[in-house]
Amino acid sequence: MTVQLRDLGPIDCDVHPPTPRMAELLPYLDPHWREVMVGRGIDGLELASYPPGSPLTARPEWHGPDGRPGGDLEMLKREVLERWGVRYAILNCLHGAMAMFSEDMGAALARAVNDWIAKEWLDRDERFRASILVTPRSPELAVAEIERRASDPRFVQVLLLAAGETPLGRRAHWLIYAAAERLGLPVGIHAGSAFHQPMTSLGWPSFVVEDYVDQATTFQHQLLSLIAEGVFTKFPRLTVVLIESGVTWLPAFLWRATKEWRALRSEVPWVDRSPIEIVRDHVRLTLQPVDAPAEPERLAAVIEELGSDDLLLFSTDYPHWQWDGDDALPPGLPERLLSKVAVLNPRATYRRLAASEPEESVREESVARGIVS
Ligand code: ZN
Repeated sequence: MTVQLRDLGPIDCDVHPPTPRMAELLPYLDPHWREVMVGRGIDGLELASYPPGSPLTARPEWHGPDGRPGGDLEMLKREVLERWGVRYAILNCLHGAMAMFSEDMGAALARAVNDWIAKEWLDRDERFRASILVTPRSPELAVAEIERRASDPRFVQVLLLAAGETPLGRRAHWLIYAAAERLGLPVGIHAGSAFHQPMTSLGWPSFVVEDYVDQATTFQHQLLSLIAEGVFTKFPRLTVVLIESGVTWLPAFLWRATKEWRALRSEVPWVDRSPIEIVRDHVRLTLQPVDAPAEPERLAAVIEELGSDDLLLFSTDYPHWQWDGDDALPPGLPERLLSKVAVLNPRATYRRLAASEPEESVREESVARGIVS
């Protein structure tokens, strides 16, 4: 490629800081919850979907000196921000707060993690942005946290797990979507499970590999639920970002969803456009992992089938082990898409990023860097 990724100042839409230990969160908990956490000896609240010792969770060189996936602030700055000249990195902290059965404990921990991210990460490098963690078990508490944190423009998204307790299209979640739409925040749905339900429709699998491969079908269930329940009709300005979902399942899914919608649309009259149109208007996907065929030219063919250049958002998924070396972009990504994927699509999706910079300076810099739309 004539233009290199780092020349563009890419926006990395999926970066994972290390999961904070309880000792790090204690200053951000109120006295009651501090006492509970210490008294019960609660620690190690990593999501079970990403076991700290699993090769999936971190590339070998992306463990910190203490073995923690993702290392620390300096490692993340060196390995992500400096390595690719990243303009903004959106931090998605995968913390067990999102999976708690206790609504109150989940909300207290989500609040602490968000405040920890603001103080320990966002305040320490202006290139960091973050997603708001919430406890989806209680939409009311989730909305309260979204509203509390949305006043800080460095929080650019609401974060949900791909697998919670119920399909995400159900009305129980609509309060969250209403708040996100009102505040101009996309809803990011990240791979991972609260494990309140089996990951497969057949029951519980045995191994991490089954869990992770099955995530692609979980995303299909959730996307179909959002469409069929009419979420995008009810919330016409809502954007959903599928994060770490894989990409190449989407054309086949849309073909099937659109075909059956044509036949059965009288059942769901509120779905007023085809699933293909709805996805193009409302859904975006982060790039990694690219579950593409081995032949580079076939990736271009799959992207062509998506029928839009607006859907994909650059991500490294640091420190998850999705690729080796510096191959943050998959071979076969058409050159015309590079500046779209790396800069323009993320800016259009996360409107708070664009709002933080004067339009004129963005235009001037885009010309200087060779970013074309
Ligand atoms: Zn990720």
